[in-house]
Amino acid sequence: MGRKEDNIQKAQSLIENPERIRNMGIAAHIDHGKTTLSDNLIAGAGMMSEDLAGKQLMLDYDEQEQARGITINAAVASMVHEFEGNSYLINLIDTPGHVDFGGDVTRAMRAVDGVIIVVDSVEGVMPQTETVIRQALKEKVKPVLFINKVDRLINELKLNADEMQRRFAKIITDVNRLLAKYSPPEFKQAWQVNVQEGKVAFGSAFNNWATSVPAMNRTKITFKEIYEYVRDGRQKELAKKTPLHQTVLNMVIRHLPNPREAQKYRIPQIWKGDIDSEIGKAMLNCDHDGPVSMMITKMIIDPHAGEIAVGRVFSGRLRKGSELYVSTAGSQKSKVQVLSMMVGPDRIPVEEIAAGNIAAIVGLKNAQAGATVSSVQMEPFEPMVHYSEPVVTLAI
Ligand code: GDP
Repeated sequence: MGRKEDNIQKAQSLIENPERIRNMGIAAHIDHGKTTLSDNLIAGAGMMSEDLAGKQLMLDYDEQEQARGITINAAVASMVHEFEGNSYLINLIDTPGHVDFGGDVTRAMRAVDGVIIVVDSVEGVMPQTETVIRQALKEKVKPVLFINKVDRLINELKLNADEMQRRFAKIITDVNRLLAKYSPPEFKQAWQVNVQEGKVAFGSAFNNWATSVPAMNRTKITFKEIYEYVRDGRQKELAKKTPLHQTVLNMVIRHLPNPREAQKYRIPQIWKGDIDSEIGKAMLNCDHDGPVSMMITKMIIDPHAGEIAVGRVFSGRLRKGSELYVSTAGSQKSKVQVLSMMVGPDRIPVEEIAAGNIAAIVGLKNAQAGATVSSVQMEPFEPMVHYSEPVVTLAI
């Protein structure tokens, strides 16, 4: 069995176990390396050919499709990663980087529980870094930090080790200032990032290597040695010794919350219905046995399957063939014709998907991004926007 097939099997076995799932996004100022990081994580985790990484740009948008609010490309890519003897399913959900797509960013943030904030070490914290941090924290999405393009500090800016440390310290201080400003009060302290605990990783997404304090402890490669590898043009070797995906996905598993943990504090923030109702309690507990609730984060058009609704399941268990309400379709129910989970770039048909996961559904009529899908009629995640005809007043 190939690594990818093996991963598909493992991914399917993990969907029943919320403790082993992480739903996360990557957010950054434009050009800081979000796409490169996404691709290389997916490739490193064995979900696509490493040769394609960085060229295929899996999670990127097709501009025209984006203009219609629909992308033909992947809305989510899942990875299986081994950490301390256990397998984990990491769902990387595409968070659009364009500031004008405010609604899409909010929806994508709603589907994740954690986010990797990417900051280019040459440019430092930029205006959109602040925007994405604010958006994440508004949804109670927990951050970790990846400082990217460290190769440029060494090879282009020719900084010495001390100057580099100072630059890192400034970026971390700037990020922490923003985290303190926008964090929910109860997490102001806990969600600060620091090097010592391994909530910050450094590296080069483009050159496929990254380090952190836990990574240095594991690999025994010091910062001084890393500096020398990069300076001496040996980044390929470094990528084998301290691979990007290992360091970054370990950080994700260690520090970003699993869906069961996160939904306890996130549901009251992202859903305004009655928390003491059956559906409210089911969502709070990420209960597999409760009524089904899901929020659609993105619609994908597939040339074969047609419209596919992708979203986060917050409670219950989606089943192929079941009939569900869609908040944008009134009281009419739709049948789940094909139910799939994402593994790497592929959709894998499954019979059931439990709460805490990301699901892709074919068959939902009148579905759209932002809509709520449920087995009982419920307060939707997002208020419905009713567009009225423009009122034209003629000046007489
Ligand atoms: P995005 O806009 O945040 O998705 O950024 P991209 O991933 O498209 O990266 C922007 C540019 O930075 C591209 O030309 C990448 O090749 C380059 N880049 C990304 N990561 C690195 C890195 O670690 N080192 C260097 N030197 N360039 C990088």
